[in-house]
Amino acid sequence: MFPTGIGWPGRGSLSARRTAGDTVPRTMSQADKDPRIVVLAGDGIGPEIVAAARSVLDSLGSFGYDEQLIGGASIDELGTPLSDDALAACRHSDAVLLGAVGGPKWDTTDPDAPRPEQGLLGLRKGLELYANLRPVKPLGALLDASPLRRERIEGTDLLVVRELTGGIYFGRKDRGPDSALDECVYTTAEIERIAVAAFAAAERRAGPGGGGRLTSVDKANVLETSRLWREVVSDVGSRYETVELDHLLVDNAAMQLVADPSQFDVIVTENMFGDILSDEAAMITGSLGMLPSASLGDGGPGVFEPVHGSAPDIAGGGAANPLATFLSVAMMLRHGLDRPADADRLDDAVEAALAGGLRTADLFTGAEGERRVGTAAMTDAVIAAL
Ligand code: NAD
Repeated sequence: MFPTGIGWPGRGSLSARRTAGDTVPRTMSQADKDPRIVVLAGDGIGPEIVAAARSVLDSLGSFGYDEQLIGGASIDELGTPLSDDALAACRHSDAVLLGAVGGPKWDTTDPDAPRPEQGLLGLRKGLELYANLRPVKPLGALLDASPLRRERIEGTDLLVVRELTGGIYFGRKDRGPDSALDECVYTTAEIERIAVAAFAAAERRAGPGGGGRLTSVDKANVLETSRLWREVVSDVGSRYETVELDHLLVDNAAMQLVADPSQFDVIVTENMFGDILSDEAAMITGSLGMLPSASLGDGGPGVFEPVHGSAPDIAGGGAANPLATFLSVAMMLRHGLDRPADADRLDDAVEAALAGGLRTADLFTGAEGERRVGTAAMTDAVIAAL
């Protein structure tokens, strides 16, 4: 069903999801039939890359958009990083396309001040998105753009499955006059459902012949939550005989990712380790500007967003690389909107634009055949290649 092999166990078809509990009138106009996408542009380069993504989507078909605020933009306008109305709109959509949030304007050490990132956490919690999928596969045209040598990264095709709603990001927090507390809690149920998602992804990536591999990353030599993590993942593993499971400590995983990334197939890990390791893995692709992500739950709309942040240093200059957002749109078409053929077309168009030599500043190496371009020219090239 999913051409990239990143199967998702817990989601029904779009039509089934839209019919269930939906009060869709019997005679639907074209606008009613169009997939409903909530667009959360956010801050920094967010509005630029999301506008580019909308023009790509418009070249692929007809979509209904609902623009809502998140992050710093929402704090400025509404005093909160995610309003109830924005969350409700997301809940009633078919998919959510997100740019990025945050920036120096909203940086504060005041624990009571609203922060843009709370919008992201609230969105993940509110939509019960517990699995973040981050595929890492360097494109042929960019093998020399990575800070790692070509021979080291060739053949890399891995998927990081990051747990998204538990762990230290959501534990109890406290601040005393000269101390601070961040509690890390995981329940068996939270670990089990992300393990199932990761094993299923490994199974489907391998195909009917089997041979999938899952590496579970933890810090079981130090952390109690990691020891529970390891036990539960191993238990779930006994149900997936065709997937080979191994466990790696997070410090070793960080080293192995740069030393020999092609050894990995699917990596599953808890919230904070996944946050850090997936950014590290992103550099294999040459730039943070190339890495897409999908955050999924069971049945409801997913959130599709580039892995990078709001890049305030280049915001407003028309220089942002929109490709991670386009690849996130491809994940949205594939995992959120049941349009795998369009997803393939978009993935291919991104490769074609790069193969033609176009490079945004973050990818430009000065090598022969490269042409340095901004967001608009890269977007036009991808649309032309569709
Ligand atoms: P960042 O990802 O925004 O930027 C890191 C570096 O990569 C910068 O030099 C930036 O210019 C570059 N970069 C990132 N995306 C790019 C793109 N598409 N094209 C070209 N270059 C790109 O990380 P940061 O600087 O640590 O954080 C900036 C802000 O973003 C902070 O407020 C942070 O909290 C926030 N942030 C948000 C998210 C999110 O919305 N999911 C993720 C990470 C960071």
